[in-house]
Amino acid sequence: MREMYVNNSLDTYKSKLFDLIYEEMSIEQHHNLYLHKWLEIVKVCLKVESAFLYLFHDSSYYLFQPKTTREAQPLLSESSLKESFHPQKMFFYNEIELDESYNIGLRFPKEDGTPFALLLLNKKNLKETLNEKDLQSFWKVSNQFLHHTEGIQTVLEDERRYRELFKVTEIFHSTRDVKTLLIQIIETLKQVFPNDDYHLLLSNDHYDFGDLPIKNFDFENANPFAMQSFVNGSIEVEQECILYAPLKGKQGIYGVLEVNSNSNSNSTFTEQKIEFIRLLAYTAGSALENAKLYEQSKRLITDLQLINETSHKLNLNLRLTETLTFLKNQVKRSFHASAIGFVLFEKGKTIVLEESSSLFFTNEGNKYITYVKERIEKERDSIFLGDASDRVVGGEKFASLMAVPMVQNNSLLGFCIVLHEDPYMFSFDMYKLLQSFIHHSTLAITNATLREKLEHLVITDHMTKLFARHYLDETMDTSMKKDDQGVLLLIDIDDFKAINDNYGHQVGDEVIIQVANLIKKMVDPHGLVARWGGEEIAVYFPSLPQEKGVEIAQGIIEQTSAETQPRVTLSCGVSTWRKDEEKCPKSVKELVKRADEALYLAKNNGKNQVVEDCDKTIVIE
Ligand code: GH3
Ligand code: MG
Ligand code: MG
Repeated sequence: MREMYVNNSLDTYKSKLFDLIYEEMSIEQHHNLYLHKWLEIVKVCLKVESAFLYLFHDSSYYLFQPKTTREAQPLLSESSLKESFHPQKMFFYNEIELDESYNIGLRFPKEDGTPFALLLLNKKNLKETLNEKDLQSFWKVSNQFLHHTEGIQTVLEDERRYRELFKVTEIFHSTRDVKTLLIQIIETLKQVFPNDDYHLLLSNDHYDFGDLPIKNFDFENANPFAMQSFVNGSIEVEQECILYAPLKGKQGIYGVLEVNSNSNSNSTFTEQKIEFIRLLAYTAGSALENAKLYEQSKRLITDLQLINETSHKLNLNLRLTETLTFLKNQVKRSFHASAIGFVLFEKGKTIVLEESSSLFFTNEGNKYITYVKERIEKERDSIFLGDASDRVVGGEKFASLMAVPMVQNNSLLGFCIVLHEDPYMFSFDMYKLLQSFIHHSTLAITNATLREKLEHLVITDHMTKLFARHYLDETMDTSMKKDDQGVLLLIDIDDFKAINDNYGHQVGDEVIIQVANLIKKMVDPHGLVARWGGEEIAVYFPSLPQEKGVEIAQGIIEQTSAETQPRVTLSCGVSTWRKDEEKCPKSVKELVKRADEALYLAKNNGKNQVVEDCDKTIVIE
């Protein structure tokens, strides 16, 4: 057997190393196995009993322990190992305190001079059998080998990471679900850099993240490095141990990836590591963008359908109540809002429409209305607050607030307000959708309001040319204030449904007109005739005593029965008021109620008759 210190023994060592380099190994076992095998070769070639390798990491030496080794650990304290390191010296003999059996140590620095590895060998009399020159050569070859494996190791690790990146890129682009994607990003990082901590700081998202290390990007209290990374789209490193990488897509930045190395060693973020994180963050950013765009387009379609449905419904010329109730339901459905209010300004007054949620009729709700009103009157713009609790005086209950003004022809008609208890419940898209809703419905609301006002202004019924009911109401009200007495007749056509059924609706209309004209002719000029309902007519005689009223009613019933074509009969209820009479009705409402009760009796008694409020029944046949 040749000895190492024989001239060509170094060649044997070299050739063994050469063989080792070309041995195929899987990436995972590569580094450990290489070093282990190298130690074995060293032992054989130098004929030493044991060889120990220390690797320098995080400012200390650690014993390299391949799983297979059963050798005893050298008794060497960490501090003596540290002291032993002098970059200038390549190797040393017994310079450090060792168990007497270990008598040689060789140091391997990195290229930049910082410590890398330490090899301890034990062999009695090694110094005598190995001269300085041989040892130098041995060190030189070993040093080259170690740097070579380290280089390969870095390349292989990089390769592994990039494989990982490639794998996740595929996954990233095959999922459109934002949450799945976020989980995947974190998983990949954990696999590639298992010793670091990760957080994703996301802007403008409200997913339920559960236990995932994901936070919402808090712009107001953000870490300045994170903020800088977000705003500039740059990689930022804080105190060499926390790195921020922007999640950047083509259209924007969606958040920041925070990597905490949990260490203050200088070499935590190597250029390769930063480059890898940058690439991963960029890949994640683009994938996030895709997923978001997909979600957005889906939401846009739903929103458009909603707006379409709303516009369609609003174009149906609904009554104001119907319009608002419909809107309220749409808003509730789309935004899961807790309270929705509609507020109109009229002649300087702020009117909360009765279709609003009950909250707005309480003091609590009023605080929000006051706040929104003041702001909207001043700014004429919509309001979108994620946390309104510190803005609305005394408004602790609701945090999320949206309000959109209703503007028509440049004048401010009112606003719609939407609330939720929890903060940041409404997304910006919801806010845009609400604006769109209100924008589309303002015209419908004003139309409905105008139409209803107009209806009130019109005092005659279009079909019969009789007065409208509200006009008769107002006339009775005035009369009851200024006159001494008055009589009300409530008249209803008997079995009118049968007329419609037998002759058709048009003939039905004509019959109503015949009856209306007949009554008008008979009561002119003292009585005021109004269309009370479908086939109901009311007549009011101011300053007329009850008997006269009943007499006229009787005449009307007789003539109708005789003159209508096709023939119809009428039932009539009569009520009277008199100033000095205790038992008489005191209000229009009561007067109407009594006439209605009398009419009901007339119907029950067999129709075609007049019934007086005071139970006097006059049957005409
Ligand atoms: P009763 O003797 O109890 O009053 O029986 P009725 O059939 O007259 O009463 P009911 O209230 O059951 O039906 C009234 C009908 O009048 C039903 C409705 O379709 C019809 N009607 C109401 N307004 C109009 C109208 O303007 N034109 C026509 N053609 N029909 C009307
Ligand atoms: Mg009727
Ligand atoms: Mg009827």
